[in-house]
Amino acid sequence: MKGTFLKIAFLFMPEITMPALRDNLLNTYEWLTSSTRREIVQQFSESKTWPASVVFYHRVADTVQNPWSIGNENFVKHLDLIADLATFASLDDTIRTQKEGSRDKLTVAITFDDGYAENLDRAIPELIRRRIPCTYFVTTDHVENQKFFEHDVARKEPLCVNSISEIRWMANHGVQIGGHTATHVDLGKPWTRDRLRTEISDSRKKLQDWTGQEISYFAFPYGLPQNISQASIDMVFESGYRAFVSAYGGLNFPGGDSFHISRFHGECGTASLHNWLTMDPRKVARKCPLQYEMPTQNIRESLSSDAESFSNDEPTVSVPLRSETTPVSMSSIGSI
Ligand SMILES: [Zn+2]
Repeated sequence: MKGTFLKIAFLFMPEITMPALRDNLLNTYEWLTSSTRREIVQQFSESKTWPASVVFYHRVADTVQNPWSIGNENFVKHLDLIADLATFASLDDTIRTQKEGSRDKLTVAITFDDGYAENLDRAIPELIRRRIPCTYFVTTDHVENQKFFEHDVARKEPLCVNSISEIRWMANHGVQIGGHTATHVDLGKPWTRDRLRTEISDSRKKLQDWTGQEISYFAFPYGLPQNISQASIDMVFESGYRAFVSAYGGLNFPGGDSFHISRFHGECGTASLHNWLTMDPRKVARKCPLQYEMPTQNIRESLSSDAESFSNDEPTVSVPLRSETTPVSMSSIGSI
């Protein structure tokens, strides 16, 4: 009976667009699989093999809503839920425990892609106020030229992007900045090495210039396997990035890949996030490694001297959040 219900539920779930209805179905699925989830949790606790979760967001705002936006209150609920069910971690922490091969608790890292201006209204100040680590992946040409993203223009809903001074402000307040190409290009296409260098390496240098931070991580635009070519992975490595992230769902089990980190989307509502964090048996069992060849040190190019001035060794500590950080008001954001 349970199996029949689940088959029917998942047959129709992708077609259900009403968030409330989808949440109800997810809640029911969670209840039906609760005993399996308890067994999984017990096993992870005993063997210290908890996965690391990495959630990605694009835009947190109360104005225009689209599939890559969630509301401010919804985002705060996500933070509360994660605080209840897991431990916040930086990407540095995530990769360290991947390499160590054991993890004694469920960790969640927060990331953002693209660089939307409205994230500074509530989401980023809230993360800073709570001292929650965050990696913010930036598309440099859009920020530098204040250019709208094509995917927003296509919906006839152009949305403002961050300015350089906002990116610098975030970096100065402990937000880790990451690379997300220069032009938000699909890196699954067969670009020349010069174009790959511009998109991946040159944009990294630009972010380092803007922030004074080492830029350690890269997020592939669109983030599906078909958007990630071997040539682009090689360029990510050669450029000095320590790791890259994808965006097609998946958990990161200790001892697994530490150069490619899987992420899942922070969906509208809380049911999807709750389902991930309570160890959905389907997601735990799903193996979704990216098929690629790990670049080796001998192909890493000698880049320009300013890139070399940043150490590519293991960082000793995560980028610290400023101890004097206080809640940030709209006006202080607006003044930067
Ligand atoms: Zn993007």
